[in-house]
Amino acid sequence: CGIVGYVGQRQALDIVVEALRRMEYRGYDSAGVAIADGHGHLTVEKKAGRLENLEKQIAEVGADNLRGTTGMGHTRWATHGQPTDRNAHPHQSLNEKFAVVHNGIIENYAPLRDELENLGVDFASDTDTETAVHLLRREYEEGPHAGDFVASAYATLRRLEGAFTVVFASADHPGTIVAARRSTPLVVGVGDGEMFVASDVTAFIEHTRDAVELGQDEVVVITADSFDITDFDGNPTGGKPFHIDWDL
Ligand code: GLU
Repeated sequence: CGIVGYVGQRQALDIVVEALRRMEYRGYDSAGVAIADGHGHLTVEKKAGRLENLEKQIAEVGADNLRGTTGMGHTRWATHGQPTDRNAHPHQSLNEKFAVVHNGIIENYAPLRDELENLGVDFASDTDTETAVHLLRREYEEGPHAGDFVASAYATLRRLEGAFTVVFASADHPGTIVAARRSTPLVVGVGDGEMFVASDVTAFIEHTRDAVELGQDEVVVITADSFDITDFDGNPTGGKPFHIDWDL
């Protein structure tokens, strides 16, 4: 179980897959990536089993179909739903405009799923995670901050209970990623013209050694050259900056 998000100038796919490889030691049963192409599309590839299975699938569809400088990756340790292709992360909204990856458990997923199904949402997986991405789409389309990806992500996060690290991306807002944590780890990697979020510094240590650790119930919004850390209500908090001066 590992999570990585990237916003920068380079091809996100290479960086994200490499980060997943470096986090393999944590153990996992499935892996996946989502890449925003900068032109309104988010492409997801995901696969049960070893990272090699995902890489083979990416080679089959062609890395050219996964070009973009914003991306996220996930290795899954299934808690809700079997370790199958369809339960692998990232999960997408039905219009494919939003994607989420998540480590941990969304404890209140059952009432959230009921609520969403009553509103006509068809679920594509058996995971607790998928509730988050459908909530995000609804917030974005109909919430008090409709059209505002970041504010809609905050509103979504406030509805989630449990222990989670989550990362959200939006096809129509490439260049921005929202990540949050509650009772599970999340670290920001501060690069030169690129930013990372990850569950583990091993994900980005080859790219930057400047990092910021998020505290309990904190959110970070990254772009290629900024990171803003707040609580779940959007009040600035700041996180805990540190320099990685050890070798792995
Ligand atoms: N609860 C989520 C699932 O079963 C995330 C598991 C994980 O931490 O990888 O898909």
